[in-house]
Amino acid sequence: MKVQSVYVLGSTGSIGESTLDVISQHPDRFSVYALSAYSRIEKLAIQAESMGARVVVVPDDDAALRFRELWGAQRPLPEIRVGAQALADTAADPEVTTVMAAIVGTAGLPSALAAARAGKRVLLANKEALVAAGSLFMQAVREHGAELLPIDSEHNAIFQCLPDDGAREKAPQQPAAGVRRLLLTASGGPFRTTAVEALHDVTPDQACAHPNWSMGRKISVDSATMLNKGLEVIEAHWLFSMAPERIQVLIHPQSLVHSMVEYEDGSILAQLGQPDMRTPIAYGLGFPERIPSGVGLFELMRMKRLDFDAPDLLRFPCLGLAYDALRAGQNACINLNAANEVAVDRFLTRRIRYTEIARVIGECLERLDGTSCAVPQSLEDVLEQDQRARFVAAELCMLRA
Ligand code: NAD
Ligand code: MG
Repeated sequence: MKVQSVYVLGSTGSIGESTLDVISQHPDRFSVYALSAYSRIEKLAIQAESMGARVVVVPDDDAALRFRELWGAQRPLPEIRVGAQALADTAADPEVTTVMAAIVGTAGLPSALAAARAGKRVLLANKEALVAAGSLFMQAVREHGAELLPIDSEHNAIFQCLPDDGAREKAPQQPAAGVRRLLLTASGGPFRTTAVEALHDVTPDQACAHPNWSMGRKISVDSATMLNKGLEVIEAHWLFSMAPERIQVLIHPQSLVHSMVEYEDGSILAQLGQPDMRTPIAYGLGFPERIPSGVGLFELMRMKRLDFDAPDLLRFPCLGLAYDALRAGQNACINLNAANEVAVDRFLTRRIRYTEIARVIGECLERLDGTSCAVPQSLEDVLEQDQRARFVAAELCMLRA
């Protein structure tokens, strides 16, 4: 068995930590070559030591200095690489076989794309990369023979439920034959049953208190607004070549069915499991083999029911905005994602109210509608449009502060 040499982008985050947890259970299969972090350098140093990382990537010279101080002189220092370019270059490092793309936001796009362009095995958690640059990313996967494995639990579930037709061995690029619809499940988040009038006053901590999953703060807010599910609809569109009308969202409060594939003959295949990201991460790391993830037995008899409901678009306007953006085209998806990142940041730092998030996104989409008709042809085009949308969204947030 060939040992996979792994680069974990965003190792100090929620997905990053779960990835290291799975890797550490299989020292015969995986070794950690490189880790990256943007903040929490103390945590990075602890991880680098326990995983024996040979390289760490940090954002600036201050972080590099801090890492050196923390490390001390007793043992050999890992190579410290600095800056956004190093983050992406390390994804193409010949020593790396497998890249876990687990940075949050568009900040994770250049490195995820670099991994695809270098033909690596790419475990994609960073959904924003596909939302902002779906066609570029999928083109890079195809042209460079990368092996793309979706880690987002819904897409991992769908990947597992699709036919094992050989094409899947390489990457999920073709619409699979005989598939009628993809059924994406959503928990409904912490405000599934909160009175709509009360949403005006919810706090960041309430929005981040997800009933079933423990995640980073940005995706937790996205789950509360269901913009996360909207991003996932766009992600599913690119991963599985599915038209928007063939991707249905279902509210499933128990978060046990992680998503489903409905076939032309009426069969529906589902993947179930505990809400623990170590399951999809272990699936991606071990593929095509199944390896232990550390997730314990799941006693179905303790579950009395599985509920499925249609999402209420008045409660969750962000979901409707995401479908609109997907139908409008790639620039609208960039705008949606960028406006959301800005609005969520302003909400988390208490500068706008929760209910303003959807308004800022909606208004940003309207203002930028038609300002740039061309489909982005390059990473630079995507990042330029992303900046444009951030500027507009920041202005809208100021007006609403
Ligand atoms: P997190 O906030 O817990 O961690 C983010 C990581 O990215 C950290 O290591 C941080 O240092 C790094 N980072 C942040 N900003 C950066 C920047 N500008 N440049 C470089 N690195 C930066 O986030 P998370 O919950 O682990 O989510 C990571 C990604 O995975 C997101 O795209 C999210 O949507 C996706 N995802 C997460 C979950 C989950 O359960 N947490 C599930 C599905 C998908
Ligand atoms: Mg998900």
